[in-house]
Amino acid sequence: MLSGKVALITGSTSGIGLATAHVLAEQGINLVLHGLMSDVEGQALALEFAERYQIKTLFDNADLRDADCIARFMDRAITSLGTIDILVNNAGIQHTEGVGSFPLQKWNDIIAINLSSAFHTIQHSLPGMRENRWGRIINIASVHGLVASINKSAYCAAKHGIVGLTKVVALECAEQGITANAICPGWVDTPLINNQISDIASKNQTSFEDAKYQLVTAKQPLPEMLDARQIGEFVLFLCSDSARGITGSALPMDGAWTSQ
Ligand code: NAD
Repeated sequence: MLSGKVALITGSTSGIGLATAHVLAEQGINLVLHGLMSDVEGQALALEFAERYQIKTLFDNADLRDADCIARFMDRAITSLGTIDILVNNAGIQHTEGVGSFPLQKWNDIIAINLSSAFHTIQHSLPGMRENRWGRIINIASVHGLVASINKSAYCAAKHGIVGLTKVVALECAEQGITANAICPGWVDTPLINNQISDIASKNQTSFEDAKYQLVTAKQPLPEMLDARQIGEFVLFLCSDSARGITGSALPMDGAWTSQ
């Protein structure tokens, strides 16, 4: 059912996005790969996916802080591979600091990349989805789209925002065969959180592995990080026909973090 469809995954050069790209490619889904990587590295990644999975691929390194850049990226993707059937808004960055001294530039970047970019990609993807009367929009939010933690003002604002955006898009598309959902993961083992682990390691004079355990268990009852592929498999389920009734949901995948 999904083979031959086109998925665009922002931030698919690393972590959750890259793992999701592999999961979708295994189903024969054509891919628009994207992320901050040189053209040469990106072309090599796209070729590797195309040969390994026998699918069509495209790579773009559009900077998601720039709306014009996103518009050019989306036009190029749709012209090259056709309607975006599956849109995974995944790219994100983090900066942790108290709100009183939080740098304005970091605030602007986090809101642009983690929230506004999804508004732009959704706007560009919806006409094709509506024409086909089929679409899947999956926003990778976070447990921080549901609850807060100190030192994460911009991240929590952006993630709560993308949960709200998801709900509105779901309402507006409910009769058009298009679902929109947010996945809200707890800790996932990716490069995004390495700075937070290093900060704990240096503060507590402990190893990186010990610091990782301390970080995970501080709030998440399940004492292990999720593997990025688990998020990809959840994305795949949301793309399936069985999941057509799930829309407008913010779905925790958080080791019981938000059960407390
Ligand atoms: P990651 O650092 O491994 O990957 C981030 C991706 O975003 C990369 O491909 C990077 O190139 C891209 N990116 C960053 N800035 C960009 C920009 N300006 N323009 C274009 N692309 C840019 O991170 P990850 O952990 O895989 O995170 C993916 C998503 O999952 C993020 O939205 C993150 O907030 C969310 N998330 C992560 C965790 C976790 O514990 N790792 C938990 C919950 C939610």
